[in-house]
Order: sequence, then structure tokens, then C-alpha cells
Amino acid sequence: MHLKALPGVDHLLELTKKKAPFRDIPRRVILESLRNALDHTRQAILADRDPCMTDDTLLDRAYRLATQKIRSRLVPVINATGVVLHTNLGRALLCEDALDNIQTIAQSYSNLELNIGTGKRGIRYEAVEDLICELTGAQSAIVVNNNAGAVLLALNTIAQDTQVVVSRGELVEIGGSFRIPDVMSKSGCILKEVGTTNRTHLKDYETAISDNTGLFLKVHASNYSIQGFTASVALKDLVVLGKAKTIPVMEDLGSGTLIDFSPYGLPAETTVADSVSTGADVVTFSGDKLLGGPQAGIIVGQKQTIDRIKTNPITRALRIDKLTLAALESTLKLYRDEERAVREIPTLRMLTISFEDICKKADRLFNILQKDIKADVEMDMADMTSRPGGGSFPDLTLPTRCITLRPRHMSVSKLETGMRESTPAIIARIEDNKYILDPRTIQSGQEDIISSTLTQILKKK
Ligand SMILES: *Cc1c(COP(=O)(O)O)cnc(C)c1O
Repeated sequence: MHLKALPGVDHLLELTKKKAPFRDIPRRVILESLRNALDHTRQAILADRDPCMTDDTLLDRAYRLATQKIRSRLVPVINATGVVLHTNLGRALLCEDALDNIQTIAQSYSNLELNIGTGKRGIRYEAVEDLICELTGAQSAIVVNNNAGAVLLALNTIAQDTQVVVSRGELVEIGGSFRIPDVMSKSGCILKEVGTTNRTHLKDYETAISDNTGLFLKVHASNYSIQGFTASVALKDLVVLGKAKTIPVMEDLGSGTLIDFSPYGLPAETTVADSVSTGADVVTFSGDKLLGGPQAGIIVGQKQTIDRIKTNPITRALRIDKLTLAALESTLKLYRDEERAVREIPTLRMLTISFEDICKKADRLFNILQKDIKADVEMDMADMTSRPGGGSFPDLTLPTRCITLRPRHMSVSKLETGMRESTPAIIARIEDNKYILDPRTIQSGQEDIISSTLTQILKKK
């Protein structure tokens, strides 16, 4: 086989014009795909592999490459892992009101930075500031892109060039390389570690104070817990010490919740309102963890401090966009009626769903699957646990009832791969050599998709 026998790209391009499947593909994508297909064949010839190189095989290859290039890269997936706030799968799902509001604001001009009353320039954060203050009891609030940005911004504003005192037990790393010591140095602060990994006492903070101490920082451990012989200093004690020494106190709550989860059978997490009323000068938290809204970082605190944050140039660099603001406002509004929030915000709904209701979901899925795939798998239900995820409630497991599948004619890992590579991708876990579907995070209407995809994959053998 000779390189010279390869057709030219112009010749192939002409041919694609007569082929219907190429019609909706942009010309530049077709051209690049043809070049890639020709390259591939050229390499094969050079390697003496004697490739098939008719026009049709080249066009087929180019078509496959082109469809890969034009398909969306960010696509919906089905979360059958039971992990409610799955960072890899996009964390919180938005509530209906937020989705509607995003659409409304996206397709129309808005008063994003116009004060309709005066006709003068307005402030974008005002769309949510009063609401956040109402829900948290704070004097003032501001919102940026995410909580990592919120922490950076708050540290930089309050404590640049000064020492920030943090317990060694709270120097956490959050997924996606957010590490407190790194953020500290990027914000221009000097980290002053105190205590030990497992035990820190108030006197550790006290003896660390110098002329250059600018802030006491408390960080929620979020994604891990320290157990056994432990001690940490409560926010309220730090606040007392801070008042006595005129050193401000900041708390990074990480997830940050607006409601008390204990009435729903979950552990009592400190709410944002708790931290505010305890006297933290500044509190930061995420919009898309337990709050169940869009990705955002919320900073609340005393007016004086928040006012300084508002004029920091970094605030402009981290400013929240209007679609996020629209989603956040709608989500926050639901919190005025806790019952409604728990019913309508998907994150809260999935976390607080009763075991009884999970079992109903499991039964429904089991029945659908049983009709379709019984011949090809050993199928069962098992009481297992789901995790909240997203760095919230690190030790908590929620009782759930899963469907467990063991294929009769293929390996479990091949089934898992097949499901993951389907459209839409279905993400689930393998445990004990079984494929596990946790109904907690499966949305209504997805059962049939799961069933038909399983049927297809199992038939492939
Ligand atoms: C998650 C988390 C962050 C980062 O928040 P993002 O909204 O993901 O940027 C910061 N601090 C703590 C303690 C966290 O748990």
C-alpha cells in the first residue's frame, strides 16, 4: 500500500456534500475530521498495517470523528450513587422556582444594576442581601462566585499582612485543591497555627496573640472528623476572647445550612443563624452544598466589615453573575417557609426523605427492572446506607434500600462501564461484586431510562 494512493482531502470533502448525515455538521468540523481520518490511515500505512482506504471507509471514520467533536461535553447524567451532594456530578440540583427565574432573567433585560426607584445605578447584591439577612439574622451580606472565593476575599479584606490564628485541627483540604494554608497565603495573610491535630484549647489561641494578630479563624472540618481524645474551642469562647482582645472572629462554615436538620432525624448542624447570633464577625458558606442553590459563596456579618469587603477590588473579580443571582434569590425565598423549602429544594428533599418513602421508590424501580431484565441478572433489594456528600455531615450515613444486581453473563465491572458510557450516563457503585442502584438520588422519570439501558447493556453480553 502506498501513501500516494490516499485520496486528497478536497476530493473527500466534495463527497461529503452528497451525504445526508454530514449535512448538519459545520464545514470546519468535517474538514478537520477528514484530515484526522487521513492522518490515521497515513500512520497505518507507514506502520505497514495495510489499512482499508476506500473513500467510504475514510468517510465513515471521518463521520464518527465529527460526531464526537460536535456532541456536547457537559451532559446530564443519572446519579444512582445515593450521594446527594456529589461534587463530580455537579452538587445541588436547583428547585423549579430557580429554574424558572433563570429563564426569565436570561431572556430579558433586568434591573441587575439599576435602582428602579431612583433611575440611578443600583447594586447587584441587593437582590439577595435583605433576604440573606432576614434568614440568618446578620446585619449585612454579600455574595461571590463560590465559598473558596468568599474565604479568600474575607481574609484579604480583614487580615491582609497580619497573623490569622487557626487550630491545627482545622487546616483542612476540601476537594478540588482548596487548602486553608494556601488560601491564607494567597489572601496575603500570615497563618499562625495553634494547638495540635486532635486538641486545641482556648489558651492556645490566647498565647498566640501578638501585636500583629488580625483575626481568629474557625473552619468547619466539613469532609472529615476527628474522633477519640479531642478538644476544640467553641465559637462562643473564641468570640469572648476576641472581644476582650479586640480581634475579629471569622467562621468558614463550608456547607452552611439555613435550617436545623435535627427534626428530620439528621444530626444538628450549626446553622448560619447560630454562628451569627453567637457573635462571629464574619461567616462564609457555600450556595450549592446544604443550602441547595446555585454555586455561590455567601459572606454575612457586621455591616462595617461587609462594607469593607464590598469595596475590595477582589470583590469585582469574583462577582456573581445574574443567572446565579436569579437562582439564588428564588432558592432563598423558599426558606421563608421551611416546610416548602424541604419539599421543593431537591437537596433538602433527598436528604430528609423518610426510609418508608425510599422503600417505595426502591419497590417501584425493582418492579420495573424485574419485568425487563430478570432473565439476565440476579436481582435483590438490600438495606444499605447513602452519604450526604459535598463535605457535609462527614460521619453521617442515611439508611436506604438499594437494588443490587449481579449479571449472569457478564462481569459487574463491564456492566458498570457500559452504564457509565451510555447516553445518558448512569453512575452507580459496585459493592461486594454487585452493581448497586440507590433510589435516593434517582429522580422520578429516570427509572425507565435505567431499565432500558440495563436491558441494552445486558443483551450485549
Ligand atoms: C466546601 C468548602 C469550601 C469551598 O466552598 P466552594 O463553594 O466549593 O468554593 C470552603 N471551606 C469549607 C470548610 C468547605 O467545606
